[in-house]
Amino acid sequence: MAEYEALIGMEVHAELLTESKMFCGCRNAFGGEPNSRCCPVCIGLPGALPVMNKKAVEHVIRTALALNCTITPNAKFDRKNYYYPDLPKGYQISEYDAPIGVNGWLDIEVDGKETRVRIRRVHLEEDTGKLFHVVGNVSHVDYNRSGVPLMEIVTEFPPDMTTPEQARAYLVKLRSILTYIGVSDGKMEEGSLRCEPNLSVRLRGSETFGTKTEIKNLNSFRAVYRGIQYEVGRQIAMLERGEKVVQETRGWNDAKGQTFPQRSKEEAHDYRYFPEPDLVPLQISEAWVEEIRSTMPELPDAARRRFVQQYGLPAYDADVLTQTRAAALFFEETVRQCNDPKAVSNWMMGDFARLLNAENREIGESRVTPKMLAEMILLIKDGTISGKMAKELFEKMFATGESPRKLAEAAGPQITDSGAIQAIIAKVIGEMPDVWAALCAGDEKKFGFMVGQVMKASQGKANPQEVNRLLRERMQQG
Ligand SMILES: [Zn+2]
Repeated sequence: MAEYEALIGMEVHAELLTESKMFCGCRNAFGGEPNSRCCPVCIGLPGALPVMNKKAVEHVIRTALALNCTITPNAKFDRKNYYYPDLPKGYQISEYDAPIGVNGWLDIEVDGKETRVRIRRVHLEEDTGKLFHVVGNVSHVDYNRSGVPLMEIVTEFPPDMTTPEQARAYLVKLRSILTYIGVSDGKMEEGSLRCEPNLSVRLRGSETFGTKTEIKNLNSFRAVYRGIQYEVGRQIAMLERGEKVVQETRGWNDAKGQTFPQRSKEEAHDYRYFPEPDLVPLQISEAWVEEIRSTMPELPDAARRRFVQQYGLPAYDADVLTQTRAAALFFEETVRQCNDPKAVSNWMMGDFARLLNAENREIGESRVTPKMLAEMILLIKDGTISGKMAKELFEKMFATGESPRKLAEAAGPQITDSGAIQAIIAKVIGEMPDVWAALCAGDEKKFGFMVGQVMKASQGKANPQEVNRLLRERMQQG
């Protein structure tokens, strides 16, 4: 590997968050009864005429601005001609030589090293329908997705990325920006964000480029990472054997962890692009661009820096919490109510994130609200519940959406009686006299351990502040 280098480019498609589709009034949504959101325009009946969705154009301008692009004042739509059952018109309306945004960039950081990934273009098009291959050589087609506004973001050539880690960092950052500015929900598992890396390998120091392949059907960051890693290895092995890499599109088999050939790559001229005659060219005035710029929210990079400064969070926490706007808003709202940024961060990155992951849910889809998390953190702070109880309580809260105070009451009374706690302390000391002796001899590190043991012995019900106080008292008695 040492003598080879990979050059990795990326095409990302994002379905835009709009009420209606790109060129008709059908609702833009995910799933639902097949073919329930279609009309003559989006199923391509002869004579049906497209009408442009202004919101979608604004979303693309907003994205282009967030990615430091130049806006094309006279952008236009073109027809990309090809036939496929999921594209009944026989062409897709896209943008060919005058995309809305050009020449942008996105900075990424991997292992402390910053790389500027240049972006060639950001353009607007329409999504296709969806094919379902069912048993018995039968395929069904659902046109609900047909005509959904789709944005394509393409990196510059020659590529600036050379490792799978960089490709992953680019996608994480891009997804974060798209969700921040509210143009996409970023759901890779629902296909609203789709990534197609392309890559070639060459001998390090070589001036020429190797033949590239493109990988499709990657529906998670992990798949993108593994797919690139596999493909780099495959291409190097071919070159080592003296074989030629074929330019093609390859699919990804996640179970096998392998790419496989799908089809040979079309060239642009295969699509016979020409200007879309049913739509006038766009006229994007400077005033319109400025209006959109003026409503741009704080972007993730700025939010990350602010979280470190304003809340004193470690850079790592700030990075994780600003990956989606929903998480950042949740964090700030919770801190506003309990004023303990690090505790909020710990819960959000720990138990909360773990439970969300297990159910494949986003933070905005959770029953836990900022108010509930803040209330729970305050209950721990004032000693009403112990840390151990809080962990269980959080899981119940996550599952039921019940208020933490109610859950704490239902969990039974806390042990606050000094006599009862002293009895538990005596029992624990009896079980581990060596630890106790060490603590009394001045080994302070054992104190936290003893508190933990007493809490455990009380099944998490002892008032932690009382446990602390009574342990100290007992230590003085020796
Ligand atoms: Zn329609």
